[in-house]
Amino acid sequence: MTFAATILTLYPEMFPGPLGVSLAGRALAEGKWSLNAVQMRDFATDKHRSVDDTPAGGGAGMVLRPDILAAAVDSVAPGVPVLAMTPRGRPLSQQRVREIAGGPGVAILCGRFEGFDERIFEARDIEPVSIGDYILSGGEIAALVTLDACIRLLPGVMGAASSGMDESFETGLLEYPQYTRPQLWEGRAIPEVLRSGDHAKIAAWRKARAEDDTRLRRPDLWERYSGARVQPPSGARQQTKEE
Ligand code: SAH
Repeated sequence: MTFAATILTLYPEMFPGPLGVSLAGRALAEGKWSLNAVQMRDFATDKHRSVDDTPAGGGAGMVLRPDILAAAVDSVAPGVPVLAMTPRGRPLSQQRVREIAGGPGVAILCGRFEGFDERIFEARDIEPVSIGDYILSGGEIAALVTLDACIRLLPGVMGAASSGMDESFETGLLEYPQYTRPQLWEGRAIPEVLRSGDHAKIAAWRKARAEDDTRLRRPDLWERYSGARVQPPSGARQQTKEE
């Protein structure tokens, strides 16, 4: 089955861009996914083909018009989730990526300027998605990020089928650190345990490193992970916090 990606953008020439090479590029050529980059300006109705206007209430920049956005969204064949790239969205997660990759495709609305007229989120079923707490100049790179994360999970795209479940976030932890030859480099040796051939010991070492690094680098992930593991015995204690 082909995973159908539709991108609604003012810069369709940015696609497939980096997704035209390597793993994603090969998968595109093989028809494992398809790409339709749609020029949003084609939905403009006036002779200047305008897609934006000044912000209500004042302020800098321009805002994408809801009527243009709606026409673009309505042109997408139904049955796929419609995402809008915005720093005001829910942070993209590996779990959501996995859900999307398991479906028939995705449509992604790319913002520019100051972003979208908010009414589009009320009038259409659109999921606001952020790729992180920083501001990009447009939604296109965020859409490429989102698509890349989905495409590598499509059946037959990744070489080693196993490399999917072991990654950072899939376990709730960052991945353990990786090493390869040369054995000794600039006076630094690969950790001895990785050369021991003792699979149980290696697994224990990797788990410990994954936990240490997560605790130090991502206290937010660590809190969730360790909190989820340390469950009070059922019925032993009264719930103190209301959900
Ligand atoms: N004024 C807006 C930012 C506009 S940036 C605000 O402060 O919320 C212009 C466009 O870039 C946005 O409409 C969005 O499509 C995209 N963009 C910027 N940062 C992003 C992020 N972190 N995640 C997803 N999209 C982003």
